[in-house]
Amino acid sequence: MMNKLKIVFLLCFVQQLVIAQEKPNIVLLFSDDAGYADFGFHGSKIMKTPNLDKLAKQAVRFTQGYVSDPTCGPSRAGLITGRYQQRFGFEENNVPGFMSAVSAADGREMGLPVEEVTIADYMKKMGYTTSFYGKWHLGGDDRFHPVKRGFDEFYGFRGGARSYFPYSNIPAQKMDLMERGFGNFVEPEQYLTDALAMEAIDFIERNAKAKKPFFTILSFNAVHTPMDATKEDLDQFPELKGKRKIVAAMTLALDRACGKVLDKLKELGIDKNTLVVFTNDNGGPTDKNAGVNFPLSGTKSSHLEGGIRVPFLIKWPNNTGANTTYDYPISTLDLLPTFFAIGGGDVRTIKGTDGVDLLPYITGENTERPHEVLFWRKDTRGVIRRGDWKLIRYPDRPAELYNIPNDISETHNLVSKHPKMVKEMFKELFAWELTLERPRWMLKKAFEKVDIDRMDKFRDQSKYIDGESK
Ligand code: CA
Repeated sequence: MMNKLKIVFLLCFVQQLVIAQEKPNIVLLFSDDAGYADFGFHGSKIMKTPNLDKLAKQAVRFTQGYVSDPTCGPSRAGLITGRYQQRFGFEENNVPGFMSAVSAADGREMGLPVEEVTIADYMKKMGYTTSFYGKWHLGGDDRFHPVKRGFDEFYGFRGGARSYFPYSNIPAQKMDLMERGFGNFVEPEQYLTDALAMEAIDFIERNAKAKKPFFTILSFNAVHTPMDATKEDLDQFPELKGKRKIVAAMTLALDRACGKVLDKLKELGIDKNTLVVFTNDNGGPTDKNAGVNFPLSGTKSSHLEGGIRVPFLIKWPNNTGANTTYDYPISTLDLLPTFFAIGGGDVRTIKGTDGVDLLPYITGENTERPHEVLFWRKDTRGVIRRGDWKLIRYPDRPAELYNIPNDISETHNLVSKHPKMVKEMFKELFAWELTLERPRWMLKKAFEKVDIDRMDKFRDQSKYIDGESK
């Protein structure tokens, strides 16, 4: 009898272990301002990204993966809430990038409204240990801090950019400083991209050992400015010069850091039970970091594909869909419901998400489009993507209409050929706008001109594909 009880007890114990192990870990590798063309898995002959190329072979590669905005802050606000960030007024630009600006809603303290539920809040509810490493950019004020937004652990900086090397002269603005947990400012001991990987690895090791499911966002500031690279990495690109050489070195470091994390998952024997995402927050700013988005047009801060379509890989547990592509449009808004579902959550309980759980689409259980329609908006500019068609509304010129699969570079404006469709799309875009909150802060119109000029100047990305390689 005792033996029987013992066996039952043991079976329960084993079952619990299996259940605990079955809850997949989640690692989001997130780069900053990387060019769409600047990865081996997107055909780059210049950049060296062997680790991410290997990940691409184990992953589903999304050929039309979008972010919800072509700039850092709003794109991250969308990802982390799974909601169009305009729904809560996080629209106009980064915070708090323009210190002279004062928000009508928030004064100088601009950030992700505290009532918004984050991706980490959801994962914690599912029993995950959560962490965030690197660039936050969702508000510098204490109340917006990552440890107050669902993350158990944090090592990073609150702002949008900082040096990749430790500061010897500490800047006055604390949002530029590296911070461990809350308020403990500790500069890294090595090149920042490598330091962030080491932090994530430490977190992964601890949780794997404790057999706790974990969720981490490794939010690299690479390859955002400043253009900082180590001599060793620069030396790998003797044929390049100028910013193109530096961005290549920074990309190499990014790839190495991702590789270290991926290798650690394998070494710990948890790679098959870990969902890994690699994506990027907005298109490459060709002017700032020499990032190239070819065959897409335009740069960061434009609503052409080069601003909003990003490299997007998901390696699913047990290698589901390994080495395949998925071609319907998807969004970083989908990550929250996808993670929540794979962690055992019921996506119907998520309040007000604009994303969907992607897994049924990957397995073929659902053959429809994940999104019949996607929207973008900043100030006067608005975009609607319905099916294969994309309408862009501008402040200074007539709207443009493109058939994206037929015209990936957006060079054939078909607006005059389809007046009825254009009318309908305008109506639908406006109907969506009626559901939004007013922007919590606004920029001077002059910043819109900066974005428009930048789009016009860097629209044709074919000029840059070989860049300064010659
Ligand atoms: Ca960015």
